Amino acid sequence: MVDLPEGYAGEGFYATSFDKVVGLARKNSLWPLPFATSCCGIEFMATMASNYDLARFGSERMGFTPRQCDMLLVAGTISKKLGPILRQVYIQMAEPRWVVAIGACASSGGIFDSYSVLQGIDQIIPVDVYVPGCPPRPEGILDGILKLQELVGNESLRRRTSEKYKELMESYGIK
Ligand code: SF4
Repeated sequence: MVDLPEGYAGEGFYATSFDKVVGLARKNSLWPLPFATSCCGIEFMATMASNYDLARFGSERMGFTPRQCDMLLVAGTISKKLGPILRQVYIQMAEPRWVVAIGACASSGGIFDSYSVLQGIDQIIPVDVYVPGCPPRPEGILDGILKLQELVGNESLRRRTSEKYKELMESYGIK
C-alpha cells in the first residue's frame, strides 16, 4: 500500500491535484537501467536480490535498453573513455528521466584521482541523487532510491518544459 498524496477526503470521495496523482504513479514505478562497471555494481546486484528486494519499491523490472527505463543507476568507476557512452545512454532515455550516482566513484571519481577517470558523472550528465560510500551497502542504495522517489513524487509536471530545465540541459550541451 502506498500513502495517499495530499488532498481532500470526505465520505465516499477523495480529491487531489493531477500533479500529485501522476507523481504517485511515477514514483512507484521507476524502471531501473543499471550502468554498472565495477564493485558498486555488485552491491546493486545484492540490492535487487531477495534479501533487500528492490521490487518492493516498484522497481522490479530492470531494463537494459535506455528507451524502456526512466531511472539511470550509475554504479562504479567511469573512465573518461566511457563517459561519452554513458552520456549517449542518458540521451537515449525518454523524458522524464532521473539519475542516481551510486558510490564515491560515480559521484566524484572516488579514490581514483587519476588522468583516466571521470571525477564524477555530473561533469557529463545531471544527477538527481548521490549515494555516498565505497561501496555503499544495499541499505544505502535503497535509501538513495527512496530519496529519488520523494523527488519524483513532488516534481511538478511543468518542470521538464520550464526555462530552468532547458538551461540545465543546455549547460550539459543536451538539447
Ligand atoms: S566507490 Fe569504491 S566500491 Fe564503488 S566502484 Fe568505486 S572503488 Fe569500487
